[in-house]
This record gives sequence, C-alpha cells and structure tokens, in this order.
Amino acid sequence: PPEQSPPDPSKKTLVILGTGWGSVSLLKKLDTENYNVIVVSPHRSIMEPIRNILRHKKASVKFYEAEATKIDYEKRIVYVSDDSEVKGDVSHTEIPFDMLVIGVGAENATFGIPGVRENSCFLKEVGDAQNIRKRIMDCIETACFKDQTDDEVKRLLHMVVVGGGPTGVEFAGELQDFFNDDLKKWIPEIKDNFKVTLVEALPNVLPMFSKQLIDYTESTFKEEEISIRTKTMVKKVTDKYIQAEVTKPDGTKELETIPYGLLVWATGNAIRGVVRDLMSQLPAQANSRRGLAVNEYLVVNGTDNVWAVGDCAIANYAPTAQVASQEGAFLGRLFNTMAKSEALEQELNHLSERQSQAKNDEERNQIFDEIRERQKQLRRNKQIGPFQYSHQGSLAYIGKERAVADISWLSGNIASGGTMTYLFWRSAYLSMCFSTRNRVLVCLDWVKARLFGRDVSRE
Ligand code: NAD
Repeated sequence: PPEQSPPDPSKKTLVILGTGWGSVSLLKKLDTENYNVIVVSPHRSIMEPIRNILRHKKASVKFYEAEATKIDYEKRIVYVSDDSEVKGDVSHTEIPFDMLVIGVGAENATFGIPGVRENSCFLKEVGDAQNIRKRIMDCIETACFKDQTDDEVKRLLHMVVVGGGPTGVEFAGELQDFFNDDLKKWIPEIKDNFKVTLVEALPNVLPMFSKQLIDYTESTFKEEEISIRTKTMVKKVTDKYIQAEVTKPDGTKELETIPYGLLVWATGNAIRGVVRDLMSQLPAQANSRRGLAVNEYLVVNGTDNVWAVGDCAIANYAPTAQVASQEGAFLGRLFNTMAKSEALEQELNHLSERQSQAKNDEERNQIFDEIRERQKQLRRNKQIGPFQYSHQGSLAYIGKERAVADISWLSGNIASGGTMTYLFWRSAYLSMCFSTRNRVLVCLDWVKARLFGRDVSRE
C-alpha cells in the first residue's frame, strides 16, 4: 500500500511536527512533489481533519498520529510514540529527517501553582473543549441533586475562568451566552445561582487592546453579569476552591478563598518538553527563555536544517494564529523555491558537463546560451526575502453577539466594538477556515445552534 512505501531516495525527507495553524498553512502552500513529506501530530487538527488536507495534495504525504518525544539534532532523528488509546505491537519508533519543521505549539502555563494541573480544565486541544462541556453538565446535574445544600449549589454553579487574555475573555463570553441562550431555558432551576467569574492578576483584561475597547469589554461583561475580578492573582488551587491574593485599592493585599464548580485555566503559554530538550542540545539557544529562537528565515538558531513556526518559535511576534499561519505559508513558499533552485543547479551541472563534451563551437554556444538563461532564473529564484509579518489587527469575541477589534486599515487604526464587529468577527472566522467543506460545516453548526440551541449532551 502507498502508506508504507519507502521514501524516494532522490528526494530529501521533510518532517513536519504538529498540525496547528503553522503546519497546516505550510502544508497548504507546499508542493509536496519536491520532498518526501512526513507529518507527525498526536492530535486531530482543530481547523480541519488533517487527512482531508493531505488527500488533496499532488504527491502523497505520510501522516502519523503520534507524539514527537525527542529530537536528536546530531543524528537527525525524531523519536515518536503512539499515545492513543489503541496501541499495536509497535508504539515507539524513530523517523530520520533531512529537513525538520517544528510546529508543536506550546503547553499551558501553570507557573508551578499547586493544584492547577490536577483540578483545571484547559483550552488547547479539541479534547479540552469536550471535557469542559462534560464538566459543566456534571456540575449542573449535581447542583440539582435532591437536598443539595445552598452553599454547595452556589459552589457547583460557579464557573471560574483564570486569565484575562483573549482566551479567557472569549471563553467567559461564550459560556455566559450558553447559559443565557440555552441552559436557562433547559434547566430553569439553576437560573439564580449560575455565575461566571473571570479572574485576572493585572489591573485590567485584554492588555493588547486599546483602553477604549478594554472599557467596552468590561461594561459588556457587566451587562452580561459576568464578574471580572482584576488584581486577583491565583496562588493555590484545590478540588473545590481557589485561593487568590487580592490587591485592595489602598495597595494592601489579602488572601481570599473562592469556591468553584468548573475551573478553566487560561494564563497563556509555556514551552513543551520536546522543544526544551532540543534547546538544551543547541548552544545557540542558551539565552532563549520562551521558545526556539529563529532567524529572519525562521531557521532555528544553531541549526541549518531545522525551522520553527507558531507558538514554539520566538520571532518577536505574539503567539497568535495569525502569526503562525503567515509563518507556515512563508515556509511553504521558501521550500518550493529551494526545491526549484536545487533543480536548476542540477540542470546547470548537467549543462556544463554537456558543454565540455560538445563536438563543435555551434553546439557549445547553444549550450552556453542555455546556461546563461538558467543562471538568470536561478538568481531570480534565490531572491526570496526574509519573513515579514503583516499585522491585520486583533479581534476577540466578548459574548452577547459583540466583539472588539483593533484593526489597522489603510494606515489608520480602527478600534471598534459591538454587533457589526461581531459579524465581522464571524466572517473573519469563516475566512480562516481552510476549505469550503469546513466553511459550510461551521455555518451549519451556527445555524443549528441558533435554531435548536447548543448541544448539551455529554457523549
Ligand atoms: P495571555 O498570556 O494573553 O493572558 C493570560 C493572562 O493570565 C494574563 O493577562 C496574566 O496576567 C493572567 N495570569 C497569569 N497568571 C495568573 C494567575 N496566577 N492568576 C490570575 N491571572 C493570571 O494568554 P491567552 O489569553 O491564552 O493568549 C495567548 C496568546 O494567544 C496571546 O498572544 C493571544 O493574543 C492569543 N489569542 C488570541 C485570540 C484572539 O485574537 N481572539 C484568542 C485566543 C488567544
């Protein structure tokens, strides 16, 4: 079967780790005929089934659902493990590479705060979202259990989101929508006690947005009855409450205990183990703290055949989908160009060999002209500039069919918030879908939720 066929020895093996925004954009742009392409990722892609992207490529791409556990830079080998539920006789193996792209993203930062890993839900993978849905419904049904005490009902129905960045804000808004649009109608007895609280250590939420939009978000949250607790830094988590240090207006600090039913932890990114390990093999990464330092062509510093994209790469841009997808598309173009250059160089070698064996001047001159033409093409081809990020703006959903946007347009800045921005947010969301199939499916989901409410089943 083609899946198991050996790699073509005349081509370089390009291994791509991860199937997030960076890797998927790269795969979209990449002419897969130029390389033996192997994709490794332990998770389904959040954007689009990866198999669906790959089956539309001209040359076959191998995909392994596995986790890259270690990269040996000297040996040019990636070690991979199948960490899925179903395992065969072989579940650990190695993949040699000529070129490697690391797009493995980041881990959830917990800053070593005790209890966070064991008790929180996160918001990174598809499975995380499923866990959260299950947990919400479980809290609600337990709160409705016969003879439950008032305090316990309040605790179970208190949904606490820690981290006032865009992840926490968007989730809190969506969760309150879920309650207002659906849960309240389905289970009216929870109506007085269901409560969403957003906890943030800094003095305000959404620090990357302008003051005006921060204020707009805070007042919309107030209308929606989401409480925002700023200057509240979580220090400890147990299975039933969080303990936070609250800074009072007079500057004094106080420890407060906040009981919760659902805890969603969204305090940003940390480096993955496999990336940290690679960094320790590369002296050029010794001073890098937040991820793989890369040059302006996204080459990992200290290597010449390893590139990094997205949240695991530190190229002085924010860790956003927008940056990752532009980086991935850039690498796709870069690799297509590199392959073309290599083909031209081979042709040139071949031509100069023919030239030296030419029988007469006429033939020699003809080959000479061809060489000149190829050299020109090669020079043009090699003129690919470094990666340049083009910032399209920041956009976040804040609930109640409103969104906030800071967009740079025609060299001016537009800061907007409200329902039109929400419609813009939805269309931007659709334009980010990778295929028409996905666009239609996402639209159908929105229509379905509007007509019949969100899905409250747990399986
Ligand atoms: P973030 O780093 O932007 O925000 C995390 C927040 O958690 C910070 O404000 C921090 O002060 C707070 N925090 C940290 N420790 C805390 C503690 N112990 N107690 C209370 N608060 C604490 O993280 P994010 O929101 O996950 O975003 C990560 C990246 O992804 C960002 O670059 C963001 O722009 C991007 N993103 C963008 C969008 C969008 O554009 N709509 C959506 C999601 C994520």
